[in-house]
Formats: sequence, structure tokens, C-alpha cells
Amino acid sequence: MLHTVASNTASSRSVVSRSTLTEESMNSSNQLESLDEDHCWQAVLQRDRTQDGHFYFGVTTTGVFCRPSCAARRPLRKNVRFFRTAPEAEREGLRSCLRCKPLDQAEDGRVAQIRELCDYIQSHCDSGDSLALEVLSRQVDLSPSRLRRMFLEIVGVTPRQYVEGCRFKTLKQGLRDGDSVTHAIYDAGFGSSSRVYEQTGSRLGMTPSEYRDGGRNLAISYALADTPAGRLMVAATDRGLCFVHFDNVAEGSTETVTERLIKALHDEFPAATIRQTEAEGSEQLTLWIAALQRHLAGREPHLDLPVDIRATSFQLQVWRYLRSIPYGETRSYAQVAAAIGKPKAVRAVAGACAANRAALVIPCHRVIRANGELGGYRWGVDRKAQLLDRERTFESAG
Ligand SMILES: [Zn+2]
Repeated sequence: MLHTVASNTASSRSVVSRSTLTEESMNSSNQLESLDEDHCWQAVLQRDRTQDGHFYFGVTTTGVFCRPSCAARRPLRKNVRFFRTAPEAEREGLRSCLRCKPLDQAEDGRVAQIRELCDYIQSHCDSGDSLALEVLSRQVDLSPSRLRRMFLEIVGVTPRQYVEGCRFKTLKQGLRDGDSVTHAIYDAGFGSSSRVYEQTGSRLGMTPSEYRDGGRNLAISYALADTPAGRLMVAATDRGLCFVHFDNVAEGSTETVTERLIKALHDEFPAATIRQTEAEGSEQLTLWIAALQRHLAGREPHLDLPVDIRATSFQLQVWRYLRSIPYGETRSYAQVAAAIGKPKAVRAVAGACAANRAALVIPCHRVIRANGELGGYRWGVDRKAQLLDRERTFESAG
């Protein structure tokens, strides 16, 4: 579940009194007098984030001015001057710091900080630099556990998942471009190939060679189930569900529903070893199908099944959020974009929904247009309407 970021202002008192902040007509020297410089300096030494926006400090030796919380090394006290506003500091000929960006007040400081960290990770993910949590937390001057929590709140995945997502994006790009696997691994910033094989277990769900070769060496078992929403293909690796698919009705098709579902699975994993499982053959798959059936019958509203699907870090963010939308509720594409901290990425959110390969398990049917229209659905808009109707019915009955 994502939460909005609450501002943390309770911990220390403001170094500027309220009355001085509202008196716009004061001249520069009077404003300086209104700052308690000793308290300002203490706030700077403590990198007190609650003081961001209340004052700025300039460093005469570097010609740069900063927010109190700036992660940069602390200057000597004798080289520091304090300003009530950023323009004041600029009038003194100081440049805004590239690290704490004191002029950028459009966003909550912490959101901006995490966003910058995301940019940093993206631009360094294939550089070979360490992007371990300890290293990242020093960058933003937060404890590792606090950074992890904030990052998860704001971005929707942990820093480590984000780093891995960025690296896999580079890796997958390299593989598609035909690089040798080893070359692609090193280019993507992974220190050794054993490390990437370890991690692919939980991320791509396939090793890089398998991914490039359409799932070669990958064992997928599947079963078909008749559900109230139509015939359902449920396929899984031993790590989780990799393909949960309704039939897309094809006009004039001479194939049966079953034939089309099997064909869709083979199209998705053209080189995998795919075998149908008898009900008793895969206990795990049987349990997952039973959970899906209970879900469709309204008896298991919250579905929390393991998935084993390759994804970009953006898709992961969207899908993780989708899994938090309660049964019987909907969100708009714009709401999802805002919730994952990317309010402008509405189209990309729709794209991530359309790319979903695990119907119901990742409930992309709960995302609709802001005007109440249903929008698209990979498995048919009629089915989307039916699924939402069922959920509302069960929800109000329960
Ligand atoms: Zn700074």
C-alpha cells in the first residue's frame, strides 16, 4: 500500500518566527536580523530537513547556497551566511546547489529527493559504481532503513528492486540487440554473472539466455479451468504464475477456445518446454487455480498469489499498486500514475496495464478512465465490465 508523504515538522522549532515570514516589505538586512543565526547553524549541522524552506545557507568560499538539509559536506562556520529566501541568496551572487536544488520547491522536498535519487540510479546503473543501500543512503543523508521505507512509500518498490529493475532494463535491451549474454551482463552493471543468475530467479523469472531464446530451458506447466468469467489458461514456472489468460474471442476463428489459449501460451514462450498438468500432477498449480476460482466466486476477495513475470521497474511499480486496489473498487489511470509518484505517466500506466500477463492476479481490470468509461482490457472490455460487476455485487452482498 502506498501512502502519501506526511511532512515531518514536529521535531524541532522553526528558527524563523511566523511574523517575520509574512512581512514581505522588509529589506535584506532586516531579514537577516530576523534569523537566529545560531539556531540556523545548528540546523545546518544537523541537516535538519524540517527547516528546509525556512532559510538557506550560502557558502562564500564555493559561491553556492543550499537548503539546511543538503547532503553536501559541512563548510566552516566562518564561511557561511544565512538567507531567508532563495532569491536573496541569488542577489548576493550565489548559485543554487546542484545537490539540494534550493530553487526547486515545486514538490515536497522528500519526494524531490527520492526522485533525484531515482535519476541518479538510472544514470549510474550500468556504470559499475556501487548502488548498495548503504551507499545510496549516504547520498541522501538518511539511515538505510529510513531510505528504504521512504523509497518504498514514494516509488512503490525498494531501492534494491529499483536498481535491479534499471539494470534488467539495460540487460534486456542488450540481449534484444544481440549482445552476447556475458557482455550484456557486464554492460548492465552486474558485477558477476553468478549474481545476475541469482537475481533473475526473483525478477525476470528466467535467466538471460532463456529470455533471449523465448523461454528455452524453461519448464512451464499449465492447466485450463472453466470459470464464471470464461475458460482460463493458468500457467506457471516452479517460481510462480507466469501466464494467466482468458481467451480473446477471434471473429471467424476456426480454432476452439482451448486451441487459442494454448497457442497464446506458446506465442509468449515460443521455446519453453510447456506441458499440460493433470489435476493431481502439480499440487501447487491446483492450489493456485482453486484460489482463482474462489476469487471469481467472491469468496477470496484478496488474491495474493506468487507471480513469475518479467517486467520493467515501471511495470513492477504499476502492478504492485494494482494489487493494492481493494476488491470491488476502481482507480483511474491518472490516479494510478499519481499514486506511484509519476502523475504525468498516465499513458505509460495504461501501457503497463495492457502488458499485464496475469489476469486477475494483477487486477488491471480495476483501472478505468477518469470519466468512468471502462477503457481497454487485454481480455475484452465486456469481460472487464463483467468482472467489475461481479466484484461490486459480491462486495455489497458481503
Ligand atoms: Zn546543497
